[in-house]
Amino acid sequence: MGSLKLENIRKSFGQVEVLKGIDLEVEDGEFVIFVGPSGCGKSTLLRVIAGLEDASAGSVSIDGDEVDTVPPAKRGIAMVFQSYALYPHLTVRDNMGLGLKQAGRPKDAIAERIATASRMLGLDDYLDRRPAELSGGQRQRVAIGRAVVRNPRLFLFDEPLSNLDAALRVNTRIEIAKLHRKLNATMIYVTHDQVEAMTLGDRIVILNEGRVEQIGSPMELYNNPQNMFVAGFIGSPR
Ligand code: ADP
Ligand code: MG
Repeated sequence: MGSLKLENIRKSFGQVEVLKGIDLEVEDGEFVIFVGPSGCGKSTLLRVIAGLEDASAGSVSIDGDEVDTVPPAKRGIAMVFQSYALYPHLTVRDNMGLGLKQAGRPKDAIAERIATASRMLGLDDYLDRRPAELSGGQRQRVAIGRAVVRNPRLFLFDEPLSNLDAALRVNTRIEIAKLHRKLNATMIYVTHDQVEAMTLGDRIVILNEGRVEQIGSPMELYNNPQNMFVAGFIGSPR
């Protein structure tokens, strides 16, 4: 399970309204892309969904239940950041298992989850290394593995590949697509890479200045952009 419903989400920082009424429904198992210019509110929206930021108005529901009062750790959401956010002093194994350990899960269950996730992500040979002994691509896979072991209802990715060089970006994108197929999990993925958006997304949400410009499948947006802004991001030239 992992359906998501956003109703009229608004968020202001001081006098500045950054999210201006976002409505969106994501189905269980869907892969949804958020694209839009820098500063349009993509990260803020992910943070509101994750509960890391309170919305000024509106509601977030997961599997039909409003989660506005549910703390981040209880929402069944795992977020993967551009900057990996790994603990440098911990091994890959301990970075992946820390969240489960803090949640009081038994050791053997944690070990089993880590084994499954590391196999899925090709990290078996790196479990005893520390982040400094890994490449950027491997670090990001550890960060993804840390999300996978938590078995979340919903994955949120905030530009996870933008610190990687071109070849690794392609590689890791394919890994994420495979992971989505294997887990059948709901994923929301922020990017400003058109190729990532077109190849990964079941649907793409085009955001601009805190509003949704258009939502559709890659082909719908490509063939039928509603305005020049969408066309500029994704559509074919008219
Ligand atoms: P994006 O991820 O699309 O680049 P963000 O969601 O990070 O955009 O930011 C949207 C806007 O909100 C930007 O103008 C940014 O400066 C502002 N903003 C984000 N977080 C804060 C904050 N904690 N305090 C004040 N302004 C913020
Ligand atoms: Mg951002």
